[in-house]
Amino acid sequence: MAAAQAGQTRALIIGAGIAGIQAALDIANSGYDVALVERLPSVGGHMAQLSETFPTLDCSQCILTPRTVEVGHHPHIRLLTYSELESLEGEPGHFVARIRRRPPYVRWDVCTGCGVCTTKCPTKVPAEFEGGLGPRKAIYTLSPQAVPNKPVIDREHCRYFTQGKCRICEKLCPVGAIDYEQAEEIVEETVGAVIVASGYQLLPLGRLPEYGGGAVPDVIDGLQFERLLSASGPTAGKVRRPSDGREPKTVVLVQCAGSRDPEHGVPYCSKICCMYTAKHALLYRHRVHDGRAIVFYIDIRSGGKGYEEFVQRAMEEERVLYLRGKVSKIFRDGERVMVWGTDTLTGRNVEVAADLVVLAAAATPDAAQAALAQALGIAAGADGFLDERDATLAPVETGRPGVYMAGAALGPKDIPETVAQGSAAAAKVLGLFARWRAEPELAAQPGHDLATDERR
Ligand SMILES: Cc1cc2nc3c(=O)[nH]c(=O)nc-3n(C[C@H](O)[C@H](O)[C@H](O)COP(=O)(O)OP(=O)(O)OC[C@H]3O[C@@H](n4cnc5c(N)ncnc54)[C@H](O)[C@@H]3O)c2cc1C
Repeated sequence: MAAAQAGQTRALIIGAGIAGIQAALDIANSGYDVALVERLPSVGGHMAQLSETFPTLDCSQCILTPRTVEVGHHPHIRLLTYSELESLEGEPGHFVARIRRRPPYVRWDVCTGCGVCTTKCPTKVPAEFEGGLGPRKAIYTLSPQAVPNKPVIDREHCRYFTQGKCRICEKLCPVGAIDYEQAEEIVEETVGAVIVASGYQLLPLGRLPEYGGGAVPDVIDGLQFERLLSASGPTAGKVRRPSDGREPKTVVLVQCAGSRDPEHGVPYCSKICCMYTAKHALLYRHRVHDGRAIVFYIDIRSGGKGYEEFVQRAMEEERVLYLRGKVSKIFRDGERVMVWGTDTLTGRNVEVAADLVVLAAAATPDAAQAALAQALGIAAGADGFLDERDATLAPVETGRPGVYMAGAALGPKDIPETVAQGSAAAAKVLGLFARWRAEPELAAQPGHDLATDERR
């Protein structure tokens, strides 16, 4: 019995984007332990990549960093970055999670995060965090604000792993933290409840052949544009064309790139694109005062506090031109990017010679989400997003008792809604923990009907 109860008031959270971070802090600040598992080397998810957030234009990194730092230092949070869930066995109150930890080839217990290794490493590759628009080294941290601020070696590009020579990082590390012999390990966490917060990704541009299929250099997606707009990004916040580094004077922003398009993309609305496109157009005009921003849209969905006003601000104060119509083709013509579309309000065909095109590509489930759902024994819908036990009355509960979910893993959503769901999932877990503390015999009854219990 004692062993069965060992993990009952400890939570496992999978995914350390803002959804997982919020849930972890809510639970940890209530005095319970949390194991927070993140696939990447550091926490923050997509919010860490954003420049400013609609509708307030807060600096994303500035409002996120206090939370990532708190997560990194919290006495009740065990951070397991560079890790993924292998399996989850057991019942609410006594789940056993097997977690695969990738080797960073750096002893994080010894590393001081001084950055000498990342500065001196001779190998440069495109940085995933920068959407490929800037470089990183073969030994790297995701960003300067990374939590934990410890590097990992990418063995696919490291000269020592690929060619058997180099070892510069090992030679220069002042504390001897480099360890090429590290191996993958499996750790087990015994927990009472689980929250899945594995987020979203954008439809790869290769899936949009009519929009250049990812092969036209100055056609980028929204997250790449976020990096161009970010002070910490590859151009230090100056909007520059990836192809030649010039300041683009005409930028076309295409909404619904793959969304609401069952034939070429996904059938659903990605929900966040109308707002972030307005933000992009507005921030571009803030950066390039003599620039022209043109938005192609099917219709504008700006439901949210202050959202409609924000779109109006882009249109009226920043004179962003909104053209109602769908873009039919995007292709390169010399140094320009040609955008063909139809203005459905006038019925005329439109052709724009742009310097840069930003596609609001559809938000899709994380590519590995199906495998994660299977490992967790929970259901995903036809679109791949996680399914609610009851979409109306149990929106953060999965069909598996004791396993909850939050954020964009359930469907595209903005940060306020994501944070609200993170807190909702945390409240569900805290509710269970409180009851198990008051009635310990409940947690010792494998299979007791949680769904019914929760509605008592
Ligand atoms: C271009 C763009 C601009 C945006 N701008 C705004 C804005 O201005 N304002 C706003 O409110 N919203 C904005 N958003 C939406 C915002 O990005 C999301 O609301 C938010 O990131 C969702 O957070 P999340 O934690 O659910 O998911 P994510 O941010 O995707 O985080 C999920 C985390 O889970 C990790 N993960 C995934 N699978 C696993 C696994 N199997 N094991 C372990 N870890 C895993 C991922 O690595 C990631 O760290 C924007 C979105 C885009 C695309």
